[in-house]
Amino acid sequence: MILDFKVSHLKKWHQPTNSNQALIHFIKQAQNNAGFSNLELVKRMGFRNTNKAMRRLHHFERSGQLAPIYRQKIIQVLGLNKADIEQIEQQHSDHQWLQLALFIRHFNQIWSHRKMIVRHPDYANVSFPGLYLSVAYLQVPNYNLGLLLQHYMNGDWMESSVCCGDFHIVGAGGSPLSGRNTCHGFCGQCQNQKHYTTAQFGTLLKAHKAIKPVCEQRLTDKTMTDLLRDFSLLID
Ligand SMILES: [Zn+2]
Repeated sequence: MILDFKVSHLKKWHQPTNSNQALIHFIKQAQNNAGFSNLELVKRMGFRNTNKAMRRLHHFERSGQLAPIYRQKIIQVLGLNKADIEQIEQQHSDHQWLQLALFIRHFNQIWSHRKMIVRHPDYANVSFPGLYLSVAYLQVPNYNLGLLLQHYMNGDWMESSVCCGDFHIVGAGGSPLSGRNTCHGFCGQCQNQKHYTTAQFGTLLKAHKAIKPVCEQRLTDKTMTDLLRDFSLLID
């Protein structure tokens, strides 16, 4: 199934997924620290129907969406601070999609500077919400612009049958085991963004495993806005 959406709908579509990527990490970390298995966690949450509760928990691990009652109980059981969770959500909702929109709008110019960008740690390590690889049960490093451009340069993370031009995948998540995989990205031709379930997740993972970053992987203070300004691609 392919779900099209306009840029104006992006926030609505992706805000829960992305803000909750941080939330998933935050809660799983707390769960790990507490030493609770998933089953133990839902039992402590007081749910009698553990199968149903486990399905909800798995849904949360994929989508980051929790029904209010689950959220409240998880906070209680893991001894979390509600304000911390609200802060995580706030941080991610603030200008969340601006950097992604800039990347897509200026992609052709960024592409023309790709060889320099992938080699320069300050630019290659630029990241933004929406740029990610998330794999259930596996640790995946933070994704960044350099890795993404390297994929495109290898002809990976691109699909030709999704839109009118080469479709560039920017973010992908899922579980190779359950087969529940999604990705999103943009068309290089019409710049439309799409979010869809993908049967190609294994191919994306394979490319990820094969990639050898051409520069040091580290944090950078640079943002997409900085990169565009430094390359004189953004004039404001
Ligand atoms: Zn298109």
